[in-house]
Amino acid sequence: MFGKVLIANRGEIALRVLRACRELGIKTVAVHSEADTEAKYVKLADESVCIGPAPSGQSYLNVPAIISAAEVTDAEAIHPGYGFLSENADFAERVESSGFAFIGPRPETIRLMGDKVSAKNAMKEAGVPCVPGSDGALPEDPKEITKIGRAVGYPVIIKAAGGGGGRGMRVVHTEAALINAVNMTRAEAGAAFNNSTVYMEKFLENPRHIEIQVLSDAHRNSVYLGERDCSMQRRHQKVIEEAPAPGITRRFIERVGDRCAEACRRINYRGAGTFEFLYENGEFYFIEMNTRIQVEHPVTEQVTGIDLVQAQIRVAAGEKLWFKQRDIALRGHAIECRINAEDPFKFTPSPGKITNWHPPGGPGVRVDSHAYSGYTVPPNYDSMIGKVITTGDTREQAIRRMRIALSEMMVTGIKTNIPLHQELMLDERFIQGGTSIHYLEEKLAAKSEATKGK
Ligand code: ADP
Repeated sequence: MFGKVLIANRGEIALRVLRACRELGIKTVAVHSEADTEAKYVKLADESVCIGPAPSGQSYLNVPAIISAAEVTDAEAIHPGYGFLSENADFAERVESSGFAFIGPRPETIRLMGDKVSAKNAMKEAGVPCVPGSDGALPEDPKEITKIGRAVGYPVIIKAAGGGGGRGMRVVHTEAALINAVNMTRAEAGAAFNNSTVYMEKFLENPRHIEIQVLSDAHRNSVYLGERDCSMQRRHQKVIEEAPAPGITRRFIERVGDRCAEACRRINYRGAGTFEFLYENGEFYFIEMNTRIQVEHPVTEQVTGIDLVQAQIRVAAGEKLWFKQRDIALRGHAIECRINAEDPFKFTPSPGKITNWHPPGGPGVRVDSHAYSGYTVPPNYDSMIGKVITTGDTREQAIRRMRIALSEMMVTGIKTNIPLHQELMLDERFIQGGTSIHYLEEKLAAKSEATKGK
């Protein structure tokens, strides 16, 4: 096992990784920007190194500064968390060539999965169901493109191979609009991602977002750890996640999960990862793989009893998986609400000093957050300040516990989206389960219409 791990991230995930390391008896190095000097997890770490000013381009994305911090502190491995450099193959390569272990997949795997066309091809070969569409990249010839469009059937979506974060996509409803849309997406993708390759998919009108968690060691052993439903989204940002997904049979999940584990073995995957699917009319359609730990990993931990962050560290150190697929049993139901420092209905960010922070507690309640009374939320980063996760024997119990948890939770000094979560925990359609990825936006639009009239 590693003696010391450097955590190349901030906020709640930095604290989460720190806790995993401490439990494994590993010393920690926190790197931080000038804006995060006072953060409590920085003080909890065995050592800390300031790597630059507040803007993340000069600190959390500053590769030379992070590598030097690892060198001066004699760290053996680097955990990238999520966001920032976590899916940057060049960074992973730099980490490894500098003599450190990267807690994540091999650089070539990150690169393969970072290109959506090659990722989709690799998945197809492993028998993972994909969204119907062009066979790889679109050709240059407009006639050929038109032919593909007819074969796929409208509406279609044109996507950039190098796209990410919900950018580089365009929905096309008619053949007349196709070529122009392809050209525009190509031009944008070239400018934004330095890769003008685009491909075509059938546009699914009302899908759910279901994802499968996988875990692999460096010895071609791979398991899947069930699914998560992350359909409650606003602007492609997940707001609530849960495990398991309501209303989908285990047998069905097992079939897809098996394919995902098989795909991992084929690409020689290492570490934790997520296969994201759109789910519509009883079918799964792969859209992309995330080669890192995800924000919503706790719901899977709650229902499987497996500590995913510790598992990432253990397999990065070369350990073989210590359980088999048949040993994994799901128990109960878990829901996660992302707590953001923002106006609950206008969504404007609300950074500033938290004057009072009272997290909830009790049976089945978990709070992953780096916040505390007196903590100042810097304006420079993502607005998420923590996650409330509740677990129950049933989905109903998890929802009940979430309502109680949210009602106990007190955050003053800044605005949070707790009121939105409270409303959603009482929403009939959410309670029923199985809403599509458009549900939250539609609900918010209807609400804003209704208040306009008043
Ligand atoms: P990114 O890497 O930018 O997040 P994804 O491929 O994961 O891109 O797609 C992001 C979102 O775009 C999906 O969650 C979904 O809402 C929408 N989307 C992508 N592909 C399709 C499709 N074929 N049909 C309908 N919606 C899609």
